[in-house]
Amino acid sequence: MKINIPETDQERIVIVGGGFGGLTLARKLAKSNYQIVLIDRNNFHQFQPLFYQVAMAGLEPSSILFPLRKTFHRYDNVYIRVAEVTGIKLAEKRLETSLGICNFDHLIIATGADTNFFGNQQIADKAIPMKSVSEALFLRNTILNDYEIALSTTDFDDRQGYIDIVIVGGGPTGVEVAGALAEMRKNVLPKDYPELDCSEIDIYLVQSSPQLLKGMSEAASEKALEFLTELGVKVILNNRVVSYDGEFVEMKDGSRIQSRKVIWAAGITGSLIPGLPEGSVTYGNRLKVNRYNEVEGVDNVYALGDIAYMEEEEYPQGHPQVAQVAIQQAKQLADNFKKRAAGKEMKEFSYRDLGSMATIGRRLAVVDLPNWKFQGTFAWFVWLFVHLFAILGSRNKLVVFINWVWNYLFYDQSLRLIIRTGAPWKKMDDVIDEGERG
Ligand SMILES: Cc1cc2nc3c(=O)[nH]c(=O)nc-3n(C[C@H](O)[C@H](O)[C@H](O)COP(=O)(O)OP(=O)(O)OC[C@H]3O[C@@H](n4cnc5c(N)ncnc54)[C@H](O)[C@@H]3O)c2cc1C
Repeated sequence: MKINIPETDQERIVIVGGGFGGLTLARKLAKSNYQIVLIDRNNFHQFQPLFYQVAMAGLEPSSILFPLRKTFHRYDNVYIRVAEVTGIKLAEKRLETSLGICNFDHLIIATGADTNFFGNQQIADKAIPMKSVSEALFLRNTILNDYEIALSTTDFDDRQGYIDIVIVGGGPTGVEVAGALAEMRKNVLPKDYPELDCSEIDIYLVQSSPQLLKGMSEAASEKALEFLTELGVKVILNNRVVSYDGEFVEMKDGSRIQSRKVIWAAGITGSLIPGLPEGSVTYGNRLKVNRYNEVEGVDNVYALGDIAYMEEEEYPQGHPQVAQVAIQQAKQLADNFKKRAAGKEMKEFSYRDLGSMATIGRRLAVVDLPNWKFQGTFAWFVWLFVHLFAILGSRNKLVVFINWVWNYLFYDQSLRLIIRTGAPWKKMDDVIDEGERG
């Protein structure tokens, strides 16, 4: 079966992945003389930095998603297919997808990264990752569902299992989730669950290294720890989770924590598509690329964003896996395709670090700009502004802005709904038994 896209005189660029990198590239090339095919397993772009707010019932999923088709209404050289890409046949220059075969002249791999459980299948089965909006929703349902169950659980230890939460990984995601949960425990849960003693809810954040927010400045790491401690999060440094059976978390030093919820934010691994030579794959399951984003060892195949590993003088171990790298690489690659078509010389990619930031709670954030590092209330407003600006779609910006103002003024999120997905005809107990508590 073929994916059914018209064969024309135009060279065909197939982009796999409509994330920050793939979507930016498709938008930049939409005005070109190439035929663009954008393939993603979802029909929307996901704004991953705000997943945690969906998981904490602060935002509706639709406000951080953007329909891929909407971007290309005016372009008849762009084709979108919602399909899973399952393989690459290099010799035939074709992709295998769940909708059939798709030929390419140039292939761009922008598939991002997935959760890394470091080979621990037990943890993969029991812990909750947050690498897609579905997983964020699943987490929201699980948290709210467990509080409902806790109300009717009289045994103290059992109840603790339902209300306590362990977050693994002290990077931006772990820190933001921990802070948001602590704010929820302080401002929201006492109103929703007056029968629960919310001071009994323990939130643990486990980080294997001696500091939080490893890629950021020392000042940011220290402040993040201080802010979280003030919010009552139990931060455990220099220790790692070695197993989790769904009820007890076992740490490297032998200690145990009882919790039915472990949020796994401890690492990522490249989302590879089978079919590329082994020699093209390097650390973290990423594809080795040169400064033009060409995958080493193969022709007409490019990679960008989280899946790509590119070394620069300033980044001898590759770029950080963040949105700005994906966006900047996509812009440069689009430019190079246009230069190539015009017979001009292509330009090497150079990453321009615009800074990094993380929010911890209400009026608590840390910001590292290239020449200025600051923390606290002003940093929080900067974080809000930057994220609002970055979300795709005016409607989304407005909805997120209204939600944030509302939450700020009334200390309340209005979205604490348990909307079951997957198997609505099943009874709640069956769903929980299957580990499908969403
Ligand atoms: C919870 C969280 C918070 C984050 N916060 C920040 C932040 O604050 N700031 C920041 O800069 N970065 C942040 N990041 C990282 C940032 O989101 C990534 O660096 C960025 O998304 C990478 O862009 P990308 O285009 O490479 O991949 P992605 O944006 O991940 O897009 C990959 C796309 O490929 C699709 N795909 C993958 N495999 C297939 C396949 N086989 N077939 C079809 N489609 C496929 C996926 O559906 C997805 O749409 C965060 C990430 C997460 C998970």
